[in-house]
Amino acid sequence: MNRDGARKSIWQEEIKKFSPDPALEEWYDVAIVGAGITGMSTAVRLQKEGQKCIVLEASNIGFGTTGGTTAHLNDFFDTTYAQAIKDFGLRNAKLLKYVGIEAKNIIRNNILEFNISCDFQSKPGYLFALDDEQEKKLDTILKGASQVGHPMAQTDDIPFPFAFKKAAAIPDQAQFHPIKYVRSLAEAFIRLGGVLVEDCLCESHDENGDFVVLQSTKGSITARSVIYATHIPPGINMLHFMNAPYRSYAIAFRLKGDFHPKELGYDLAEPYHYYRTQQIDGESLLIAGGEDHKTGHADDTGECFSRLENYVREHFDVDTAVYSWSSQYYEPVDGLPYIGVLPGSKGKIYTATGFRGNGMIFGTITSQILGDLILKGSNKYKDLFNPERIRPITGFANFVKEQATVVLDFVKDKVFAEKMNSLAELSEGEAKVAKYDGESYAVYKEKGGELHLLKSTCTHARCEVRWNSAEISWDCPCHGSRFNVNGKMLTGPAVKNLQRIEL
Ligand SMILES: Cc1cc2nc3c(=O)[nH]c(=O)nc-3n(C[C@H](O)[C@H](O)[C@H](O)COP(=O)(O)OP(=O)(O)OC[C@H]3O[C@@H](n4cnc5c(N)ncnc54)[C@H](O)[C@@H]3O)c2cc1C
Repeated sequence: MNRDGARKSIWQEEIKKFSPDPALEEWYDVAIVGAGITGMSTAVRLQKEGQKCIVLEASNIGFGTTGGTTAHLNDFFDTTYAQAIKDFGLRNAKLLKYVGIEAKNIIRNNILEFNISCDFQSKPGYLFALDDEQEKKLDTILKGASQVGHPMAQTDDIPFPFAFKKAAAIPDQAQFHPIKYVRSLAEAFIRLGGVLVEDCLCESHDENGDFVVLQSTKGSITARSVIYATHIPPGINMLHFMNAPYRSYAIAFRLKGDFHPKELGYDLAEPYHYYRTQQIDGESLLIAGGEDHKTGHADDTGECFSRLENYVREHFDVDTAVYSWSSQYYEPVDGLPYIGVLPGSKGKIYTATGFRGNGMIFGTITSQILGDLILKGSNKYKDLFNPERIRPITGFANFVKEQATVVLDFVKDKVFAEKMNSLAELSEGEAKVAKYDGESYAVYKEKGGELHLLKSTCTHARCEVRWNSAEISWDCPCHGSRFNVNGKMLTGPAVKNLQRIEL
């Protein structure tokens, strides 16, 4: 199975590429774009309810962040209940509590109904504070959780090798193998009569009266409704200014000795580290994650792996790192996802984005929300996750400032590029953005010496791409589009490849 990065994630080697190649019909009830957990969960729900559905996927199922996740299934979120109470009120924070519970039930029901074998296990999670500042954070988290009636509670004991100041135990969390799950959903979808087309990039849409016409690289189709389950919708949309792309890093280690933590663990550092184990080929591997940063904002992405590895080795008795990979998520400006009608559309196009590090849950609940909106016109989470909500919260100013830095950096980059050495001075395996004859280029020299030359302007909103040495990709710091060294789009919102210059 392929993924949107050069490194292999723990999930993708076990699973072969799934390649149905059905013929496209002209007309469908619902066209779902993107075959990650969001797209496949929603497609199965709608097909089961008698809708004639098609899933169009630019690469293969699980190609996006679903193939690079760590698949903890939680009912507490990166946006804490305390924060949700402050920004959305107690009633909405209480509503948020049901999202995790209901999403886990949807997953359990799908597993039972479609006889899915995906290593699903319920287990407790532990949040632990390692210093005074983290302890204050944990106190606030516990207070917020108790206000909404969430059962997390202080504990004196954690099953992780950390000298902690304070900790909380969280019952009934879960984990699974995300690609076994999504692949089985895809198979169930096809058995139910759904159509799944891979290697099919959706390039544009046109809302035409009661229908939407989608243009894709495999032809055009017409649907009554379209769902962009693409992690961030393609094209230019208000949502690109309400969500910032971030990278997170994960390493799966072989463990020495007998200590194999069975539970889920999270510290409260900024950014936090997260831990779980997973059986792969009969062997229990420790998956640790963290070192998050804004996409395009790390000088050397390889160093993020080194820092994470050193940190894990300080605390766990681990042997070799068997897999290491990074992936992308989106931070919404007010902390909650956007799930509903695509802003600026005429009501026939839907989307789901801004999941932070909780997209297994938010992607799954999307099947309930968008399924209900399409079938019944309403859902209890409709207003909470309404993509058109505008919330003038405290973080907004910082968020805008952060986006402004991107523009400033972009200008600085151009000046910096002027001073760069000539293209020929790159070492093998090295890459840079270089100015040449008044134009800006993204240049990568392969091992063996072959040069790959691209126009460095992102095809989405014309920012300058930056090199990601860890995943051998060109990443856009503005909205998170990513491209391989040949210019092929790996991650939207772009829908066009970077222009390749043949040398
Ligand atoms: C390192 C890391 C760890 C994480 N860990 C967790 C965790 O433990 N628990 C949790 O709940 N969440 C976690 N998350 C978040 C979660 O993995 C994601 O939110 C989730 O996988 C997003 O799923 P998705 O289906 O919406 O998007 P994706 O999986 O990205 O799928 C989108 C699909 O759309 C396709 N696509 C894009 N544009 C087009 C187009 N124009 N035409 C056709 N197809 C297109 C892509 O190829 C892709 O396959 C983590 C995220 C990261 C980065």
